[in-house]
Amino acid sequence: MAISSSEQSTAERAAAEPMLDQVLRWSAINSGSRNLDGLKLIAGVLADDFSTLPGELKLLDPAPVETVTAAGERQALQHGQNLHLSVRPDAPVQLLFTGHMDTVYGPVHPFQQTQWLENGVLNGPGAADMKGGLAVMLAALKAVEASGAAANVGYEVVINSDEEVGSLGSAQLIAEAAKGKAAALTYEPSVLPDGTFAGARPGSGNFSFLVRGRSAHAGRNPEDGRNAIVAASELALRLAMSKTPGLTINPAKIDGGGPNNVVPDLAVLRVNMRPRTSDDQEIAGRLRERGPEAAIFRWSSTGAPPTPGATRKTAAMRFSRPPTSRFASTR
Ligand SMILES: [Zn+2]
Repeated sequence: MAISSSEQSTAERAAAEPMLDQVLRWSAINSGSRNLDGLKLIAGVLADDFSTLPGELKLLDPAPVETVTAAGERQALQHGQNLHLSVRPDAPVQLLFTGHMDTVYGPVHPFQQTQWLENGVLNGPGAADMKGGLAVMLAALKAVEASGAAANVGYEVVINSDEEVGSLGSAQLIAEAAKGKAAALTYEPSVLPDGTFAGARPGSGNFSFLVRGRSAHAGRNPEDGRNAIVAASELALRLAMSKTPGLTINPAKIDGGGPNNVVPDLAVLRVNMRPRTSDDQEIAGRLRERGPEAAIFRWSSTGAPPTPGATRKTAAMRFSRPPTSRFASTR
């Protein structure tokens, strides 16, 4: 497809933006999803750099998120602030641009430095995923703003701080920002070095099942016990065997238990589920409802029926990232 001369000059203007400098500067700040100090730093730096765009820029507090500890207790899980920019909200065409400021590795991981792998190939923490993408987004928006072509277009930019850990504190902000938009673009790297785009990706959700049993002595009165580890293991097996071509299910961890002579009264099972489509997501929902009841019923006695709600919903009991539908798959 041919592009016009004004589009050509806008692309050239974007290419002349200091993207490499920004990536080097941003990658030097560790912004692991759990590094709240680092996230505060990078959020401030990004807020400065993105305030060269017009509109209203804010750093917004994340939504409250709870987690279940290995001891079966609910605990608030802190996330960093999310960057939100709103430009010309009354313009007839509205777009959404998204990205994330957090990276996979925290400050104690050895991967902290950027390095040149070869001429033109930079390797660094979060450089590709996705501080490079943020630099491309900013360069493009600055060039379009300067071109005079932006008058009829308004947009929001959301850069969240918790993408690598499921976006639980920012999913609502992104969903709100997506409302009424003609298109949404995110600046994650392409799947392959040749620039092939991902046409679709599965959703993802992390779930914690809290199983409470009853403690007893393993030798004296084991029949009085209700073994929470066994019930959680059965639940793990049930879930693992329920996977389908459209739904991956990974029981990842079981916390709980103690000395060999004690029937354990607590287990916490952690599971990741990835549905391909919204139908698969519904199947996952039914599995999460029925699986625990079946497992608990089997490992309780008739004298001690399963307590309703013995597996409790946690704040993480939802898909923070629903599956996307397919669109054009190559550039
Ligand atoms: Zn990413």
